[in-house]
Amino acid sequence: MSNPRSDSTSAREIPFGRPMIGDEEKQAVMDVLSGPQLVHGPRAKQFERDFAAFLGPTAHATTLGSCTAGLHLAYVRLGIGPGDEIIVPAQTHVATAHTVEITGATPVFVDCEAATGNIDVRQIEAALTPRTRAISVVHYLGLPVDMDEVNALAARRGISVVEDCALAVGSRYKGVPCGLLGDIGLFSFYPVKHLTTAEGGMAVSRYADVVKRIEQIKAFGYDKSIDQRVMPGVYDVIQLGLNYRMNELAAAIGIEQMKKVPRFLAQRRKNAVALRHHLATLHGISVLSDGDAAKTHSDYCIAAVLDDRLAPHRGAIMNSLKERGIGTSVYYPVAVPLTKYYSAKYGHSAAAFPNAHRISTQSIALPVGPHLDESDMARIAEGLKSAIEGVHL
Ligand SMILES: *Cc1c(COP(=O)(O)O)cnc(C)c1O
Repeated sequence: MSNPRSDSTSAREIPFGRPMIGDEEKQAVMDVLSGPQLVHGPRAKQFERDFAAFLGPTAHATTLGSCTAGLHLAYVRLGIGPGDEIIVPAQTHVATAHTVEITGATPVFVDCEAATGNIDVRQIEAALTPRTRAISVVHYLGLPVDMDEVNALAARRGISVVEDCALAVGSRYKGVPCGLLGDIGLFSFYPVKHLTTAEGGMAVSRYADVVKRIEQIKAFGYDKSIDQRVMPGVYDVIQLGLNYRMNELAAAIGIEQMKKVPRFLAQRRKNAVALRHHLATLHGISVLSDGDAAKTHSDYCIAAVLDDRLAPHRGAIMNSLKERGIGTSVYYPVAVPLTKYYSAKYGHSAAAFPNAHRISTQSIALPVGPHLDESDMARIAEGLKSAIEGVHL
């Protein structure tokens, strides 16, 4: 394989995402492999303490196999099933809806705001019915949802609020970290997210009892965790449960990643500020908002939404960027209710979700991750400008 850096005539590659794994993570994994404990060990506990400390003194946290596992557990905890409804945003990762659907309950989709991609909270009330059990929100690309409005609606109805925080490490709403605004928050440590454990997730809450329940149902519904057992191997089972734990290898990586998260977030912020500045004067696109003074964005990526006349050329523009060594992505390529599965089952049409449909079909996600610096941001903006100019309208 050729090394792009070894060829001085070509600029270096700008991948959309790259896991930031250093010698510290490698050594930590080797240490686990040299020891006797691959699961149920001290590292998962340490990672939970570190992640909770990062969020603040009111946080409780428990490790998971993935964010999807955590979303599923959040609904298992609520005991939802056929006949129940959960409000979910139309523009999100399919996991947000699938984890409702798999319980037998029905995801009720609400369109997003055109300017932010976040669930349009003004449309939630009309979607509530006597069967609604929870409102599930996603802090889209790391921009906090209007949580005061969501929490007020949920409190009036006595229903739960689930926060999908997969892209929200570092996101804050009125100073409070995302994940501690609703009843439960779920984070993802998939390779291209803010930090990685290869696969992994974390459930957090300001309520200790919520996290305690998740701890039980993530481990078969045992009454005692390994360290609570008086006699080894002896436990009872007090409820249904699954195996959604995080292993010690992943947790060891997570502990090292947490030490670097402030640095990762600072670089993301610098990159995002630079890229937003460069894109501000570019014709043919609009950039999804970074919010207002009440909201701290986690700078997961920047979504450029192509104007209608450029939209049919999205593939060509992304290819042209790729030829310049610039990686892009799409978050997310089909509004969830319009995916084959959900449209076939529920008969949803694009007319009901115009903003989600527009963002999913017309946006390009541009990278701002800590593997990049501000000079890369200038290249991304120049590349996008040239790619747009190269489109034959
Ligand atoms: C990535 C992502 C998920 C899934 O996370 P996993 O850890 O891969 O299960 C869920 N929701 C959103 C919004 C995501 O971006």
